[in-house]
Amino acid sequence: MSRGEPPPGISIIVHGGAWNIPDEAVEAHLQGVRAAVLAGWAVLTAGGTALDAVEAAIRLLEDDPTFDAGRGSFLNAAGEIELDASLMDGTTFRVGAVAAVQNIRHPITLARLVLERSEHVLLAGSGAARFAREHGLEPCRPEDLLVGRELDRWRELQARPDFSTPQAFRVVPSTSLPERPGDTVGAVALDRHGTIVAGTSTGGTPKKMPGRVGDSPLIGAGTYADSAVGGVSCTGWGESIIKVVLAKTVVDRLEARPGDPKGAAAAGIDRLARKVQGLGGVIVLDRQGVPAFAYNTPRMARAFLHAGLAAPICGI
Ligand code: ASP
Repeated sequence: MSRGEPPPGISIIVHGGAWNIPDEAVEAHLQGVRAAVLAGWAVLTAGGTALDAVEAAIRLLEDDPTFDAGRGSFLNAAGEIELDASLMDGTTFRVGAVAAVQNIRHPITLARLVLERSEHVLLAGSGAARFAREHGLEPCRPEDLLVGRELDRWRELQARPDFSTPQAFRVVPSTSLPERPGDTVGAVALDRHGTIVAGTSTGGTPKKMPGRVGDSPLIGAGTYADSAVGGVSCTGWGESIIKVVLAKTVVDRLEARPGDPKGAAAAGIDRLARKVQGLGGVIVLDRQGVPAFAYNTPRMARAFLHAGLAAPICGI
């Protein structure tokens, strides 16, 4: 904090994916992001850390089958669920991430274990699962993560060899809206110590190749935090988000123009669309705790709450 700035206000923003969320799923998305922001807020108001708040918010979203994270995740082409998650502490620059892990109920908690108990940044696949077991995180059963909606979707997509995720994610220059669903979840929080933490958790994209890793566990792409500037969590077409390093791009813009998180979010999404024809959304908190978001999909589920607000502000 430079001199003369007001002390940071505690603040949290969450998202539950950016896509053409159908009308009948709107209420569930709004309820989900609202509950998550309140869970994180309870931690922050009790004097908890941004790390605890982000983990609490994302765990709730991982438990909610509405979202493509933890329980309710998409199946890959082989009919398996592989999960990605990441967390970054913007004060210490400590980072933890996991990619393509199976049978983990709360990948965000595993990402936190990597952050706190390993000397590495990102663990993948069976090594991540082994690390989980070694640290007392028991594997869940595949059916603990699977919901009927996703089994039906997987069966439907098996009958459509033409369906490819990148195509479904691209901006279609016609009236047709993008068809791919995306319910990745994320959160960014600022605690009373001025620390910003960002986190993201996802089941990836439907019918992805086994072993495919998206932007969500990649620091700089799906998640980034610098307590002196701000924090970001992204959602959308991972292959395109990675190419423009979206989360760090937004933080860099915020560093260049402090006090304009809205402009930074919009500039990031503009770059995503312009450079790689990507679709997606970002949530941002600046170092003062001012929330912002931007997306170029028909809808993005989000909610935020900060000091001075009586209740969360939710939108879709
Ligand atoms: N970004 C996620 C991925 O590509 C998907 C999403 O946000 O919907 O894995």
